[in-house]
Order: sequence, then C-alpha cells, then structure tokens
Amino acid sequence: MAEFNKLAQAFEYYFQCAPDVMTRAPGRVNLIGEHTDYNQGFVFPAAINFGTDVAVGRRDDRIISAVAMDYSGATSYFSMDDIRFDQAQPWSNYVRGVLKVLSETYDFNGVNMIITGNVPQGAGLSSSASLEIAVLKAVASLYKLPLSGVEAALIGQRAENEFVGCSCGIMDQLISALGKAGNALLLDCQSLAYEYHPINPDYQVVIVNSNVKRGLVDSEYNLRREQCEEAASLLGVESLRAATMDQLYAGRERMSDPVFRRARHVISENDRTLAMGRALEESDYRIVSQLMAESHRSMREDFEITIEPVDTLVAIIDEVIGTQGGVRMTGGGFGGCVVALVPKELVPSVENAVSVEYHARTGIRESLYICTAEQGAFSETSLDENC
Ligand code: ADP
Ligand code: MG
Repeated sequence: MAEFNKLAQAFEYYFQCAPDVMTRAPGRVNLIGEHTDYNQGFVFPAAINFGTDVAVGRRDDRIISAVAMDYSGATSYFSMDDIRFDQAQPWSNYVRGVLKVLSETYDFNGVNMIITGNVPQGAGLSSSASLEIAVLKAVASLYKLPLSGVEAALIGQRAENEFVGCSCGIMDQLISALGKAGNALLLDCQSLAYEYHPINPDYQVVIVNSNVKRGLVDSEYNLRREQCEEAASLLGVESLRAATMDQLYAGRERMSDPVFRRARHVISENDRTLAMGRALEESDYRIVSQLMAESHRSMREDFEITIEPVDTLVAIIDEVIGTQGGVRMTGGGFGGCVVALVPKELVPSVENAVSVEYHARTGIRESLYICTAEQGAFSETSLDENC
C-alpha cells in the first residue's frame, strides 16, 4: 500500500531490515453524547481519516525498541520483563502501558517499532487512543495473538488509566479499534453494546479546532464528575443513566442549582444521543441539526463547559448551514474542537466563513479538518499489511 511506503523506508533506516507488519489506527470525533460516558450513558463517535501508523519487526531478546518519528526519532528501549513509567519520554508510556497490560494475558517476544501519526495531539481527537490501538494491533498481528477489538480497547483504556494516569472512558479506544467506514458508532458505555449508523455520503464531517489551550480541564472535569455522582446519589440511583427527567425535577429541591443542571445535561444528552441514531438512520438532517444545537446549548448553559471562542465557532458555522446540517462542541470542553455535519456543497462556504470570521471575531486562528468516517484497526478490512 502506497501510504505505508515511507513507513517501511523509515523502519529500514532505523532497523536495517524490512518490517514484518505495518498497521494504522484512526483518531476519532464524538458526534454527540458528551460527559455521558462516566455516567454509564451513550456516546456516538466516528473514526476519522487521521491516524497513527506503526511498523513492527520481531526480535528474540524480549527487548522493545520503539522509535517516535514525530519526536525527532526519539527512541525508547526497554525490557519486557521490567516495564516502568518513563518520565523523560512521556510518549513512550502509551507504548509501555499497552505492552505491559497485553503481556499479562498474552505471550510474545521483543519488538522493533516505529511510530508516526497525523492526529493533532492534545486537540481532543484522541491521538493517544489511536497510538495505543495501533501498537496493540501491530503486535497482535506480529505474534498472531487472537486479540479482539473490544479486548484491545479495554487494554488501551487500562494502560491509559493505570499506567499513563489519565482517567478516560472506553469510547476512544473502542472506536479506534472498531470504526466502520461511512458510519458512526452508537455505544452504550454501561453494557459496551454498540451499533453502527450511517452518515449520509452527501454530508462531510468537518472538525474545527478552536486552538484555545485548554486550561483547568482536569479540575473542572473532576468537579463535573463529582456533581454527577452527587446528583445520582441524591436521586437514589446507581448512575445518572438510570435517572429520568421526571425523577430529576421531582428531586430538584434536594440539590443545588449547578448539580441539578449538570444532571439535566446528562439525562437530556443521553436522550439526544439515542435520537441521533434514529435521525442518521432516517437521514433526517433537520433533526440532526436540532439535536446537535440542543446538545451545544446544554453544554453551554447546563454543563457550563464551553468557552467563548468555541461558542463563536459554532455560531459562525451555524450561520452557514442553518437547519441543513449540525454543529456542536465536541470533547471535554474548555477549548478544543467543534464538529459539524455539513452538506458537501456547503463545505467551501463553511471553510471560507470560518477562516474569515473566526479570526475577525476572536483574534485566534483555527485549524480545520475535512474528515471522513473510517475503518477501525480491528475492523475486517483494516489497513493491516503483512510484509
Ligand atoms: P489526545 O489524545 O486528545 O490527542 P492526549 O494528551 O491524551 O491528547 O495524548 C497525546 C499524547 O499521545 C502526546 O502528547 C504523545 O505523548 C502521545 N502521542 C500521540 N500521537 C503520537 C505520535 N504520533 N507519536 C508519539 N506519541 C504520540
Ligand atoms: Mg487522549
């Protein structure tokens, strides 16, 4: 495959032999269902045409030698029998973490590896999960391990939670593993049941990064989690997934106004996420438009996680697409990206409006990505190449 040629050449440069396996895992964007994952609710991501490529070769000495091409060829060299956190090379901890967790269940030997990717890092498009899943797929293919996509996702999540020290849900790894071209994946974070729903091929997934550095994300994220837990416990339910809007209003006087509004966001967002599945299935983009607008409003007013430049981006795109498509902030909030489903004929107008208006209104320059929904690394027709 042509796109892997440069990767193969780079592998030969670093390791003086051809790779045995090359693979790619995509980043992702969440179309709707924000802050619902840790409330056992629903999310709706699509894998995107930005991903991480990994080439691997066998070695028999239980050594992992990993080269990060995007970090000036920095190399991380460690024994599989003593995998420890490396403060000096943070990128290597994703590799170390997944291989450590993988080795608890599966037997394999050493690996030479090179890594390169084009998912913007730290922008909320999940470059970390795409790196984890690419490494897992490559090593599983190399050693013929019967690793399933769901298993890989759980390993990636554990590596990120326990080894890297980031408390993410399962969504990012699962969609990177199991994405389906032309589709988004409606995932039940409680049962891990999932189903695919098609994105009409006349529509483009457009992602715009506000390029606002996300400050206070961790503390605000933790606060939102605590408020959601508080609401669930005041309502006497295991998680907000189990609460209805009627229950919430009935229990309103038992909670503070912010806690009430946080819960209202989560409960209504779960409903919107399920409704999105039906709207995509029926290709009703007027409903898609309403659901995404409502989701954004709820994140702004009830969950209070949007910031002005992001609201401005949403407004600029909304002025172009109106009810013909949908737009909302995506990701944890306090900066990051917006996602839009745009009729293809309106994409140039959206690009133009954003490039003129966003800077004019905020003084900040955005980055815009024209995306398609892609296959995951563990999907049947993934981009694996055995050399
Ligand atoms: P996000 O997942 O939203 O992009 P994270 O902070 O979770 O942001 O993960 C980004 C980190 O993942 C980077 O700082 C880097 O350590 C690692 N990473 C992502 N892509 C690559 C890559 N191509 N090569 C090496 N490390 C990468
Ligand atoms: Mg990440």
